[in-house]
Amino acid sequence: MSSSARHSLWDELGALVGERGVVSSEDASSRSCDPFRTVPAHATALVRPASTEELSAVVALCAARGQSIVTHGGRTGVSGGAYVDAEDVIISLERMNRVEEICAVSQLAVVEAGVTVEALQSAAAAQGLFFPIDLGSKGTATIGGAIATNAGGNRVLRWGMTRQNVLGIEAVLADGTIVSAMNRLVKNNTGYDLKHVLIGSEGTLGIVTKAVVRLVPAPSSQMAAFVSVRSHERLLALLARARQLPTLSAFEVMWPDYYDIVSTRDSARRPVPTGQGAYVLIEAMGYDTELDGLAFERFLQDLSDADVVADAVVGGSNKQIADLWRVRESADLLVSELWPFVSFDVSIDVRVVDTFIERSRALLIERFGAVRTATFGHLGDNNIHIAAHVGADTLAVEQEVERCVYQAVLEYRGAITAEHGIGQAKRAFLPEHKHSGEMAMMRRLRDALDHEKILNRNVMF
Ligand SMILES: Cc1cc2nc3c(=O)[nH]c(=O)nc-3n(C[C@H](O)[C@H](O)[C@H](O)COP(=O)(O)OP(=O)(O)OC[C@H]3O[C@@H](n4cnc5c(N)ncnc54)[C@H](O)[C@@H]3O)c2cc1C
Repeated sequence: MSSSARHSLWDELGALVGERGVVSSEDASSRSCDPFRTVPAHATALVRPASTEELSAVVALCAARGQSIVTHGGRTGVSGGAYVDAEDVIISLERMNRVEEICAVSQLAVVEAGVTVEALQSAAAAQGLFFPIDLGSKGTATIGGAIATNAGGNRVLRWGMTRQNVLGIEAVLADGTIVSAMNRLVKNNTGYDLKHVLIGSEGTLGIVTKAVVRLVPAPSSQMAAFVSVRSHERLLALLARARQLPTLSAFEVMWPDYYDIVSTRDSARRPVPTGQGAYVLIEAMGYDTELDGLAFERFLQDLSDADVVADAVVGGSNKQIADLWRVRESADLLVSELWPFVSFDVSIDVRVVDTFIERSRALLIERFGAVRTATFGHLGDNNIHIAAHVGADTLAVEQEVERCVYQAVLEYRGAITAEHGIGQAKRAFLPEHKHSGEMAMMRRLRDALDHEKILNRNVMF
Protein backbone atom coordinates (compact mmCIF):
# COMPACT_ATOMS: atom_id res chain seq x y z
CA MET A 1 0.00 0.00 0.00
CA SER A 2 1.37 3.42 -0.91
CA SER A 3 2.21 5.82 1.86
CA SER A 4 -0.55 8.25 0.83
CA ALA A 5 -3.16 5.47 0.70
CA ARG A 6 -2.05 4.38 4.15
CA HIS A 7 -2.36 7.88 5.54
CA SER A 8 -5.80 8.34 4.06
CA LEU A 9 -6.86 5.00 5.62
CA TRP A 10 -5.51 6.14 9.01
CA ASP A 11 -7.43 9.40 8.71
CA GLU A 12 -10.65 7.60 7.91
CA LEU A 13 -10.15 5.07 10.69
CA GLY A 14 -9.29 7.88 13.11
CA ALA A 15 -12.53 9.66 12.18
CA LEU A 16 -14.45 6.51 13.15
CA VAL A 17 -12.73 5.60 16.42
CA GLY A 18 -10.99 8.77 17.57
CA GLU A 19 -7.32 9.38 18.25
CA ARG A 20 -7.08 6.81 21.08
CA GLY A 21 -8.52 4.20 18.76
CA VAL A 22 -5.77 4.14 16.11
CA VAL A 23 -2.20 3.00 16.65
CA SER A 24 0.29 3.61 13.86
CA SER A 25 2.11 0.74 12.18
CA GLU A 26 5.39 1.83 13.86
CA ASP A 27 3.83 1.65 17.34
CA ALA A 28 1.96 -1.56 16.53
CA SER A 29 5.15 -3.34 15.56
CA SER A 30 6.48 -3.13 19.12
CA ARG A 31 3.74 -5.67 19.95
CA SER A 32 3.89 -9.35 19.12
CA CYS A 33 1.32 -11.70 17.64
CA ASP A 34 2.15 -14.69 19.86
CA PRO A 35 2.74 -15.45 23.55
CA PHE A 36 6.44 -16.24 23.00
CA ARG A 37 6.99 -12.74 21.51
CA THR A 38 8.64 -14.16 18.40
CA VAL A 39 6.32 -12.72 15.74
CA PRO A 40 6.10 -8.91 15.64
CA ALA A 41 2.85 -7.18 14.68
CA HIS A 42 4.03 -5.47 11.47
CA ALA A 43 0.76 -4.24 9.96
CA THR A 44 -0.72 -1.27 8.17
CA ALA A 45 -2.45 -0.02 11.32
CA LEU A 46 -3.90 -1.22 14.59
CA VAL A 47 -7.42 -0.13 15.46
CA ARG A 48 -8.89 -0.28 18.97
CA PRO A 49 -12.64 0.35 18.76
CA ALA A 50 -14.41 1.16 22.03
CA SER A 51 -17.85 -0.19 21.08
CA THR A 52 -19.60 -2.63 18.78
CA GLU A 53 -20.89 0.27 16.69
CA GLU A 54 -17.38 1.64 16.19
CA LEU A 55 -16.12 -1.83 15.30
CA SER A 56 -18.95 -2.28 12.82
CA ALA A 57 -18.07 1.03 11.11
CA VAL A 58 -14.37 0.07 10.94
CA VAL A 59 -15.14 -3.33 9.41
CA ALA A 60 -17.56 -1.78 6.90
CA LEU A 61 -14.86 0.70 5.85
CA CYS A 62 -12.29 -2.08 5.46
CA ALA A 63 -14.75 -4.21 3.49
CA ALA A 64 -15.47 -1.32 1.13
CA ARG A 65 -11.72 -0.93 0.56
CA GLY A 66 -11.04 -4.70 0.24
CA GLN A 67 -8.79 -4.20 3.27
CA SER A 68 -7.85 -7.42 5.10
CA ILE A 69 -8.30 -7.57 8.88
CA VAL A 70 -6.72 -9.72 11.59
CA THR A 71 -8.44 -9.74 14.98
CA HIS A 72 -6.40 -9.64 18.17
CA GLY A 73 -7.55 -10.69 21.61
CA GLY A 74 -4.83 -11.36 24.19
CA ARG A 75 -2.45 -12.88 21.57
CA THR A 76 -1.89 -15.98 23.69
CA GLY A 77 -3.04 -18.31 20.88
CA VAL A 78 -0.42 -20.88 19.96
CA SER A 79 -1.59 -21.77 16.43
CA GLY A 80 -0.55 -18.54 14.72
CA GLY A 81 -4.15 -17.33 14.33
CA ALA A 82 -3.17 -13.76 15.22
CA TYR A 83 -0.15 -13.51 12.87
CA VAL A 84 -0.32 -10.53 10.51
CA ASP A 85 1.09 -9.41 7.15
CA ALA A 86 2.30 -5.88 6.45
CA GLU A 87 -0.88 -5.27 4.42
CA ASP A 88 -3.31 -6.18 7.21
CA VAL A 89 -5.19 -3.95 9.61
CA ILE A 90 -5.24 -5.32 13.15
CA ILE A 91 -8.43 -4.94 15.14
CA SER A 92 -7.77 -5.27 18.85
CA LEU A 93 -10.64 -5.74 21.29
CA GLU A 94 -8.57 -4.40 24.19
CA ARG A 95 -10.75 -1.35 24.84
CA MET A 96 -13.93 -3.44 24.88
CA ASN A 97 -13.18 -4.87 28.29
CA ARG A 98 -16.25 -4.32 30.47
CA VAL A 99 -17.99 -6.96 32.53
CA GLU A 100 -21.46 -5.56 31.98
CA GLU A 101 -23.45 -7.82 34.27
CA ILE A 102 -23.15 -10.75 36.64
CA CYS A 103 -26.55 -12.26 37.40
CA ALA A 104 -26.45 -14.52 40.44
CA VAL A 105 -30.06 -15.68 39.95
CA SER A 106 -29.69 -16.74 36.30
CA GLN A 107 -26.05 -17.65 36.88
CA LEU A 108 -24.67 -15.86 33.88
CA ALA A 109 -22.42 -12.98 32.94
CA VAL A 110 -22.64 -10.49 30.09
CA VAL A 111 -19.14 -9.48 29.01
CA GLU A 112 -17.40 -7.61 26.24
CA ALA A 113 -15.01 -9.70 24.17
CA GLY A 114 -11.84 -8.00 25.43
CA VAL A 115 -12.39 -9.03 29.07
CA THR A 116 -9.70 -11.45 30.18
CA VAL A 117 -10.64 -14.91 31.41
CA GLU A 118 -9.12 -14.08 34.80
CA ALA A 119 -11.02 -10.77 35.10
CA LEU A 120 -14.27 -12.63 34.47
CA GLN A 121 -13.32 -15.32 37.01
CA SER A 122 -12.64 -12.60 39.60
CA ALA A 123 -15.86 -10.71 38.87
CA ALA A 124 -17.82 -13.97 39.18
CA ALA A 125 -16.01 -14.96 42.41
CA ALA A 126 -16.96 -11.62 43.98
CA GLN A 127 -20.59 -12.78 43.71
CA GLY A 128 -20.01 -16.36 44.89
CA LEU A 129 -19.95 -17.69 41.33
CA PHE A 130 -17.38 -19.47 39.19
CA PHE A 131 -16.46 -19.25 35.50
CA PRO A 132 -15.15 -22.75 34.82
CA ILE A 133 -12.96 -22.13 31.76
CA ASP A 134 -9.46 -22.15 33.19
CA LEU A 135 -6.35 -21.71 31.05
CA GLY A 136 -2.69 -21.28 31.97
CA SER A 137 -2.93 -18.05 29.94
CA LYS A 138 -6.02 -16.73 31.76
CA GLY A 139 -4.38 -13.45 32.85
CA THR A 140 -4.07 -12.34 29.21
CA ALA A 141 -6.37 -14.54 27.10
CA THR A 142 -9.70 -12.85 26.40
CA ILE A 143 -13.26 -14.14 26.31
CA GLY A 144 -13.40 -13.26 22.60
CA GLY A 145 -10.25 -15.30 21.97
CA ALA A 146 -11.56 -18.20 24.05
CA ILE A 147 -14.80 -18.19 22.06
CA ALA A 148 -13.01 -17.83 18.71
CA THR A 149 -10.77 -20.82 19.50
CA ASN A 150 -13.35 -22.79 21.55
CA ALA A 151 -10.71 -22.97 24.28
CA GLY A 152 -10.63 -25.94 26.64
CA GLY A 153 -8.26 -26.01 29.58
CA ASN A 154 -8.01 -27.86 32.84
CA ARG A 155 -11.61 -28.43 33.85
CA VAL A 156 -13.28 -29.54 30.62
CA LEU A 157 -14.14 -33.01 31.90
CA ARG A 158 -16.41 -31.44 34.54
CA TRP A 159 -17.80 -28.30 32.89
CA GLY A 160 -17.05 -28.67 29.17
CA MET A 161 -15.25 -26.48 26.63
CA THR A 162 -15.99 -22.83 25.96
CA ARG A 163 -18.78 -23.92 23.58
CA GLN A 164 -20.69 -25.52 26.47
CA ASN A 165 -20.34 -22.35 28.54
CA VAL A 166 -21.65 -19.77 26.08
CA LEU A 167 -25.35 -18.91 25.96
CA GLY A 168 -25.31 -15.96 23.59
CA ILE A 169 -23.04 -13.97 21.31
CA GLU A 170 -22.90 -10.61 19.60
CA ALA A 171 -20.60 -10.33 16.58
CA VAL A 172 -19.72 -8.15 13.63
CA LEU A 173 -19.65 -9.85 10.23
CA ALA A 174 -17.17 -9.17 7.43
CA ASP A 175 -19.38 -6.45 5.87
CA GLY A 176 -19.93 -4.66 9.18
CA THR A 177 -23.35 -6.18 9.94
CA ILE A 178 -23.99 -6.49 13.68
CA VAL A 179 -25.50 -9.85 14.68
CA SER A 180 -26.97 -9.80 18.16
CA ALA A 181 -27.72 -13.32 19.36
CA MET A 182 -27.39 -12.42 23.05
CA ASN A 183 -29.51 -15.32 24.25
CA ARG A 184 -29.74 -15.70 28.05
CA LEU A 185 -31.93 -18.81 28.07
CA VAL A 186 -30.75 -22.37 28.55
CA LYS A 187 -33.38 -23.65 26.14
CA ASN A 188 -34.00 -21.72 22.96
CA ASN A 189 -34.67 -23.51 19.70
CA THR A 190 -35.81 -20.45 17.76
CA GLY A 191 -34.19 -21.11 14.40
CA TYR A 192 -30.50 -21.77 13.77
CA ASP A 193 -28.37 -21.43 16.91
CA LEU A 194 -25.88 -19.06 15.29
CA LYS A 195 -23.51 -18.84 18.23
CA HIS A 196 -22.30 -22.34 17.39
CA VAL A 197 -21.30 -21.19 13.90
CA LEU A 198 -19.10 -18.50 15.42
CA ILE A 199 -17.64 -20.46 18.35
CA GLY A 200 -14.41 -22.09 17.22
CA SER A 201 -14.43 -20.28 13.86
CA GLU A 202 -11.12 -18.59 14.76
CA GLY A 203 -12.21 -15.16 13.63
CA THR A 204 -12.92 -16.27 10.05
CA LEU A 205 -16.70 -15.82 10.13
CA GLY A 206 -17.12 -12.78 12.37
CA ILE A 207 -15.57 -10.74 15.15
CA VAL A 208 -17.05 -11.56 18.54
CA THR A 209 -17.85 -8.37 20.44
CA LYS A 210 -19.90 -9.56 23.40
CA ALA A 211 -21.12 -12.76 24.99
CA VAL A 212 -23.47 -14.19 27.58
CA VAL A 213 -21.61 -16.93 29.44
CA ARG A 214 -22.75 -19.47 31.97
CA LEU A 215 -21.52 -19.36 35.54
CA VAL A 216 -21.82 -22.04 38.21
CA PRO A 217 -21.92 -21.69 42.00
CA ALA A 218 -18.37 -21.25 43.30
CA PRO A 219 -17.20 -24.59 44.73
CA SER A 220 -16.45 -24.39 48.45
CA SER A 221 -14.18 -27.43 48.59
CA GLN A 222 -11.09 -28.25 46.56
CA MET A 223 -9.02 -31.41 46.96
CA ALA A 224 -6.09 -32.71 44.98
CA ALA A 225 -3.84 -35.73 44.95
CA PHE A 226 -0.75 -36.51 42.90
CA VAL A 227 -0.35 -40.21 42.17
CA SER A 228 1.79 -42.50 40.06
CA VAL A 229 0.76 -45.68 38.25
CA ARG A 230 2.89 -48.49 36.87
CA SER A 231 1.25 -49.08 33.51
CA HIS A 232 -1.19 -47.84 30.89
CA GLU A 233 -3.75 -50.43 32.05
CA ARG A 234 -3.61 -49.04 35.57
CA LEU A 235 -3.86 -45.49 34.20
CA LEU A 236 -7.12 -46.40 32.46
CA ALA A 237 -8.38 -48.16 35.59
CA LEU A 238 -7.58 -45.01 37.56
CA LEU A 239 -9.43 -42.82 35.06
CA ALA A 240 -12.49 -45.09 35.19
CA ARG A 241 -12.57 -44.93 38.99
CA ALA A 242 -11.94 -41.18 39.06
CA ARG A 243 -14.89 -40.63 36.73
CA GLN A 244 -17.14 -42.14 39.41
CA LEU A 245 -16.28 -39.24 41.73
CA PRO A 246 -19.11 -36.75 41.22
CA THR A 247 -16.78 -33.95 42.34
CA LEU A 248 -13.99 -34.77 39.84
CA SER A 249 -12.81 -31.52 38.23
CA ALA A 250 -9.43 -32.36 36.64
CA PHE A 251 -7.47 -35.45 35.60
CA GLU A 252 -4.10 -34.31 34.33
CA VAL A 253 -1.58 -36.89 33.18
CA MET A 254 2.18 -36.51 32.86
CA TRP A 255 4.24 -39.22 31.20
CA PRO A 256 7.80 -40.04 32.36
CA ASP A 257 9.47 -37.95 29.62
CA TYR A 258 7.69 -34.89 31.10
CA TYR A 259 7.93 -35.77 34.79
CA ASP A 260 11.61 -36.69 34.61
CA ILE A 261 12.48 -33.26 33.18
CA VAL A 262 10.38 -31.31 35.65
CA SER A 263 11.25 -33.28 38.77
CA THR A 264 14.97 -33.35 37.94
CA ARG A 265 15.17 -29.62 37.23
CA ASP A 266 13.28 -28.70 40.41
CA SER A 267 13.10 -31.16 43.31
CA ALA A 268 10.23 -29.12 44.79
CA ARG A 269 8.25 -30.38 41.80
CA ARG A 270 8.76 -34.06 42.64
CA PRO A 271 5.79 -34.95 44.86
CA VAL A 272 6.23 -38.72 44.22
CA PRO A 273 9.29 -40.76 43.23
CA THR A 274 10.16 -41.21 39.55
CA GLY A 275 10.38 -44.60 37.81
CA GLN A 276 6.66 -45.22 37.15
CA GLY A 277 4.60 -45.46 33.94
CA ALA A 278 2.56 -42.26 34.41
CA TYR A 279 1.83 -39.50 36.94
CA VAL A 280 -1.58 -38.00 37.52
CA LEU A 281 -2.92 -34.89 39.21
CA ILE A 282 -6.48 -35.59 40.30
CA GLU A 283 -8.58 -32.66 41.48
CA ALA A 284 -12.07 -32.64 42.98
CA MET A 285 -14.27 -29.61 43.71
CA GLY A 286 -17.59 -29.61 45.50
CA TYR A 287 -19.98 -27.84 47.79
CA ASP A 288 -19.67 -29.69 51.10
CA THR A 289 -16.18 -29.58 52.57
CA GLU A 290 -16.73 -32.39 55.06
CA LEU A 291 -18.57 -34.88 52.84
CA ASP A 292 -16.38 -34.11 49.81
CA GLY A 293 -13.26 -34.66 51.90
CA LEU A 294 -14.55 -38.01 53.13
CA ALA A 295 -15.49 -39.14 49.61
CA PHE A 296 -12.05 -38.14 48.29
CA GLU A 297 -10.28 -40.01 51.10
CA ARG A 298 -12.39 -43.11 50.44
CA PHE A 299 -11.63 -42.87 46.72
CA LEU A 300 -7.87 -42.75 47.42
CA GLN A 301 -8.14 -45.60 49.91
CA ASP A 302 -9.98 -47.76 47.35
CA LEU A 303 -7.24 -47.05 44.80
CA SER A 304 -4.61 -48.16 47.23
CA ASP A 305 -6.57 -51.28 48.29
CA ALA A 306 -7.06 -52.27 44.64
CA ASP A 307 -3.35 -51.69 43.97
CA VAL A 308 -4.15 -49.19 41.20
CA VAL A 309 -1.64 -46.55 42.26
CA ALA A 310 2.04 -46.96 43.09
CA ASP A 311 2.59 -43.76 45.12
CA ALA A 312 0.28 -40.96 46.19
CA VAL A 313 0.55 -37.56 47.83
CA VAL A 314 -2.47 -35.53 48.96
CA GLY A 315 -2.53 -31.74 48.90
CA GLY A 316 -3.58 -30.88 52.46
CA SER A 317 -3.79 -27.09 52.10
CA ASN A 318 -4.40 -24.49 49.40
CA LYS A 319 -0.65 -23.95 49.19
CA GLN A 320 0.03 -27.67 48.76
CA ILE A 321 -2.66 -27.94 46.08
CA ALA A 322 -1.12 -24.99 44.25
CA ASP A 323 2.28 -26.70 44.49
CA LEU A 324 0.84 -29.87 42.91
CA TRP A 325 -0.63 -27.78 40.08
CA ARG A 326 2.79 -26.19 39.59
CA VAL A 327 4.17 -29.62 38.65
CA ARG A 328 1.60 -29.88 35.87
CA GLU A 329 2.04 -26.27 34.74
CA SER A 330 5.81 -26.37 34.26
CA ALA A 331 5.98 -24.80 30.81
CA ASP A 332 8.86 -22.66 32.11
CA LEU A 333 11.03 -25.74 32.79
CA LEU A 334 10.10 -27.35 29.47
CA VAL A 335 11.22 -24.22 27.65
CA SER A 336 14.54 -23.99 29.51
CA GLU A 337 15.25 -27.73 29.11
CA LEU A 338 13.83 -28.64 25.72
CA TRP A 339 13.69 -25.48 23.58
CA PRO A 340 13.46 -25.36 20.57
CA PHE A 341 10.51 -27.73 20.29
CA VAL A 342 7.36 -28.18 18.24
CA SER A 343 4.30 -28.40 20.46
CA PHE A 344 1.31 -30.58 19.72
CA ASP A 345 -2.26 -30.45 20.97
CA VAL A 346 -3.83 -33.66 19.70
CA SER A 347 -6.89 -35.70 20.64
CA ILE A 348 -6.58 -39.46 20.83
CA ASP A 349 -8.87 -42.23 22.03
CA VAL A 350 -7.70 -42.90 25.61
CA ARG A 351 -7.61 -46.65 24.98
CA VAL A 352 -4.72 -46.30 22.52
CA VAL A 353 -2.90 -43.29 23.91
CA ASP A 354 0.16 -45.33 24.91
CA THR A 355 0.63 -46.94 21.50
CA PHE A 356 -0.05 -43.61 19.78
CA ILE A 357 2.76 -41.99 21.79
CA GLU A 358 5.11 -44.87 20.91
CA ARG A 359 4.16 -44.68 17.23
CA SER A 360 4.74 -40.89 17.09
CA ARG A 361 8.14 -41.28 18.70
CA ALA A 362 9.05 -44.13 16.34
CA LEU A 363 8.11 -42.03 13.28
CA LEU A 364 10.17 -39.10 14.62
CA ILE A 365 13.17 -41.32 15.33
CA GLU A 366 12.88 -42.95 11.90
CA ARG A 367 12.93 -39.49 10.27
CA PHE A 368 15.36 -37.59 12.50
CA GLY A 369 17.49 -40.28 14.16
CA ALA A 370 16.75 -39.06 17.68
CA VAL A 371 14.02 -37.12 19.48
CA ARG A 372 13.39 -35.74 22.96
CA THR A 373 9.77 -35.36 23.98
CA ALA A 374 7.69 -34.20 26.92
CA THR A 375 4.18 -35.63 26.97
CA PHE A 376 1.33 -34.47 29.21
CA GLY A 377 -2.27 -33.44 28.98
CA HIS A 378 -5.93 -33.50 29.85
CA LEU A 379 -6.41 -37.26 29.44
CA GLY A 380 -9.97 -37.16 30.80
CA ASP A 381 -10.95 -35.41 27.59
CA ASN A 382 -8.65 -37.33 25.18
CA ASN A 383 -6.31 -34.35 24.86
CA ILE A 384 -2.56 -34.75 25.04
CA HIS A 385 0.21 -32.26 24.46
CA ILE A 386 3.62 -33.30 23.15
CA ALA A 387 6.69 -31.07 22.96
CA ALA A 388 9.10 -32.60 20.43
CA HIS A 389 12.75 -31.56 20.06
CA VAL A 390 14.76 -33.07 17.20
CA GLY A 391 17.87 -30.90 17.46
CA ALA A 392 19.03 -27.29 17.33
CA ASP A 393 17.23 -26.76 13.99
CA THR A 394 13.88 -28.15 15.19
CA LEU A 395 11.97 -25.04 14.14
CA ALA A 396 13.51 -25.08 10.66
CA VAL A 397 12.05 -28.55 10.12
CA GLU A 398 8.80 -27.87 11.96
CA GLN A 399 6.50 -29.09 9.17
CA GLU A 400 8.41 -32.37 8.90
CA VAL A 401 8.15 -32.90 12.65
CA GLU A 402 4.44 -32.19 12.39
CA ARG A 403 4.06 -34.57 9.45
CA CYS A 404 5.43 -37.44 11.57
CA VAL A 405 3.07 -36.85 14.50
CA TYR A 406 0.07 -36.13 12.28
CA GLN A 407 0.76 -39.36 10.39
CA ALA A 408 0.30 -41.18 13.71
CA VAL A 409 -2.83 -39.08 14.40
CA LEU A 410 -4.28 -40.26 11.07
CA GLU A 411 -3.45 -43.88 11.80
CA TYR A 412 -5.12 -43.66 15.22
CA ARG A 413 -8.09 -41.61 13.94
CA GLY A 414 -7.37 -38.77 16.29
CA ALA A 415 -7.63 -35.00 15.79
CA ILE A 416 -4.69 -32.71 14.99
CA THR A 417 -5.98 -30.09 17.38
CA ALA A 418 -8.00 -30.67 20.52
CA GLU A 419 -8.28 -27.10 21.79
CA HIS A 420 -5.74 -24.69 20.26
CA GLY A 421 -7.29 -24.56 16.79
CA ILE A 422 -5.90 -24.62 13.25
CA GLY A 423 -4.73 -20.99 12.96
CA GLN A 424 -2.04 -20.55 10.32
CA ALA A 425 0.23 -23.20 11.82
CA LYS A 426 -1.87 -26.28 11.00
CA ARG A 427 -3.59 -24.92 7.92
CA ALA A 428 -1.57 -27.07 5.50
CA PHE A 429 -2.69 -30.24 7.29
CA LEU A 430 -6.42 -29.49 7.59
CA PRO A 431 -7.62 -31.00 4.27
CA GLU A 432 -6.01 -34.35 5.09
CA HIS A 433 -7.83 -34.50 8.39
CA LYS A 434 -11.31 -33.39 7.33
CA HIS A 435 -13.70 -35.24 5.07
CA SER A 436 -13.91 -33.59 1.63
CA GLY A 437 -17.61 -32.87 2.22
CA GLU A 438 -16.80 -31.13 5.49
CA MET A 439 -14.16 -29.01 3.74
CA ALA A 440 -16.65 -28.11 1.01
CA MET A 441 -19.29 -27.06 3.56
CA MET A 442 -16.76 -24.99 5.50
CA ARG A 443 -15.71 -23.24 2.28
CA ARG A 444 -19.33 -22.52 1.33
CA LEU A 445 -20.07 -21.13 4.76
CA ARG A 446 -17.06 -18.84 4.72
CA ASP A 447 -17.74 -17.79 1.16
CA ALA A 448 -21.33 -16.90 2.05
CA LEU A 449 -20.30 -14.76 5.02
CA ASP A 450 -17.02 -13.33 3.76
CA HIS A 451 -16.72 -13.74 0.01
CA GLU A 452 -13.68 -11.42 -0.22
CA LYS A 453 -11.91 -13.10 2.71
CA ILE A 454 -11.62 -9.87 4.66
CA LEU A 455 -11.40 -11.55 8.08
CA ASN A 456 -8.32 -13.56 9.12
CA ARG A 457 -7.71 -14.50 5.50
CA ASN A 458 -4.73 -16.78 6.22
CA VAL A 459 -6.39 -18.63 9.07
CA MET A 460 -7.74 -22.21 8.87
CA PHE A 461 -8.04 -22.67 5.06
C1 LIG B 1 0.70 -20.63 28.85
C2 LIG B 1 -0.48 -20.92 27.94
C3 LIG B 1 -1.43 -21.84 28.34
C4 LIG B 1 -2.52 -22.12 27.51
N1 LIG B 1 -3.42 -23.05 27.92
C5 LIG B 1 -4.46 -23.34 27.13
C6 LIG B 1 -5.40 -24.35 27.54
O1 LIG B 1 -5.27 -25.00 28.58
N2 LIG B 1 -6.45 -24.59 26.72
C7 LIG B 1 -6.63 -23.90 25.54
O2 LIG B 1 -7.62 -24.15 24.84
N3 LIG B 1 -5.74 -22.98 25.12
C8 LIG B 1 -4.67 -22.68 25.88
N4 LIG B 1 -3.77 -21.75 25.46
C9 LIG B 1 -3.96 -21.08 24.14
C10 LIG B 1 -4.67 -19.70 24.22
O3 LIG B 1 -4.52 -19.10 25.49
C11 LIG B 1 -6.14 -19.83 23.88
O4 LIG B 1 -6.27 -20.24 22.53
C12 LIG B 1 -6.97 -18.54 24.07
O5 LIG B 1 -8.33 -18.85 23.90
C13 LIG B 1 -6.60 -17.43 23.11
O6 LIG B 1 -7.22 -16.23 23.54
P1 LIG B 1 -6.61 -14.81 23.12
O7 LIG B 1 -7.53 -13.74 23.62
O8 LIG B 1 -5.22 -14.70 23.55
O9 LIG B 1 -6.73 -14.89 21.55
P2 LIG B 1 -5.64 -14.48 20.43
O10 LIG B 1 -4.40 -15.26 20.62
O11 LIG B 1 -5.53 -13.00 20.36
O12 LIG B 1 -6.40 -14.99 19.12
C14 LIG B 1 -6.58 -16.35 18.87
C15 LIG B 1 -7.44 -16.49 17.60
O13 LIG B 1 -8.75 -16.02 17.86
C16 LIG B 1 -9.06 -14.88 17.03
N5 LIG B 1 -9.78 -13.92 17.87
C17 LIG B 1 -9.34 -13.35 19.03
N6 LIG B 1 -10.31 -12.56 19.55
C18 LIG B 1 -11.37 -12.66 18.70
C19 LIG B 1 -12.66 -12.07 18.68
N7 LIG B 1 -13.08 -11.23 19.63
N8 LIG B 1 -13.49 -12.40 17.66
C20 LIG B 1 -13.09 -13.23 16.67
N9 LIG B 1 -11.88 -13.79 16.63
C21 LIG B 1 -11.02 -13.51 17.63
C22 LIG B 1 -7.72 -14.37 16.53
O14 LIG B 1 -7.84 -13.72 15.28
C23 LIG B 1 -6.92 -15.66 16.44
O15 LIG B 1 -7.21 -16.33 15.24
C24 LIG B 1 -2.65 -21.46 26.25
C25 LIG B 1 -1.68 -20.53 25.85
C26 LIG B 1 -0.60 -20.26 26.67
C27 LIG B 1 0.41 -19.25 26.22
